[in-house]
Order: sequence, then C-alpha cells, then structure tokens
Amino acid sequence: MIRVGLGYDLHRLVEGRPLILGGIAVPFEKGLEGHSDADALAHAITDALLGAAALGNIGQHFPDTDPRYKDADSIELLSHAAEMLRARGYRIVNIDSNIVAQRPKLNPHLDAMRARLSECLQIDVGCISVKAKTNERVGPEGREEAISTQAIALIESD
Ligand code: MG
Repeated sequence: MIRVGLGYDLHRLVEGRPLILGGIAVPFEKGLEGHSDADALAHAITDALLGAAALGNIGQHFPDTDPRYKDADSIELLSHAAEMLRARGYRIVNIDSNIVAQRPKLNPHLDAMRARLSECLQIDVGCISVKAKTNERVGPEGREEAISTQAIALIESD
C-alpha cells in the first residue's frame, strides 16, 4: 500500500535569531521566529510524514505551548515522527520539498540539508529532494518578511 502526505509551514523572519533550515544553520542577518528552532523545512516534512500516515499534525504531537519544545531541535521532532511511522510498519519512499525565500541564496546549502535529513530519516539521500525558490519579490516571502516551505512524502507498507 502506498500513501502520500502534504506539509506546509511559514515562519516570520526576524532579527536576532539563527536561520535553521533542514537542520542546517544558514548564514544570514535574520532568522525564523518560533517557539522551537523554527526550522520551517523540518516542520513541513514532519507534517507531510504525519499526514501520509493520518497521524495528525506537528502541533498535536509537539505543541508550541509545551515548555519541553522551547528552542527544540526540529530535526529531533522529525526523527520522532519518522519513528512513529516505522513503528506502524511504514517505510518512506521519497520526499520532495520547496523553500520559498527571497534571500538568502539557498542553493549552496541544499545538499547539506539533504544529507542531514537523510541521516535523520534513515533513508538514502537520493530519496530526498529540497528545492529553493524566490517569490519574485511579491508577498511575504518576496518582501523578506517570512520564509515558507512545502513538502510531499510518499510512504509504503506491506
Ligand atoms: Mg513551524
């Protein structure tokens, strides 16, 4: 049996925070605001995986009102979600994703994100795609007010 799941996230870009995407610290003068480390790519992939298995959403499992998740490493939350799927007999087939950010230029960092995600999810790096897009200076991403992400995951079970 195969199933697909869809994930989306958006965080505001603010001064005084590190920019973490796909578990990688990307050098930039601003970072993403959030209760956790605000890794919007890890969050979208987590939701895509949970969605594929109809296991709810990231906010239900890791609520941002819970002090345990203050400044949480989102890669660990993603790893936990993958473990929930494995425990139910699912395997991840592949993941595709988009990061929508006007700046910084993300292409030089995408392979490092894929490697980190591959390690976290225990799947081949060839099964994880991360793509970067600008928003043509339009909308919150284009005005550098926010970075948004999208992810889709295919999972299978016997
Ligand atoms: Mg988020």
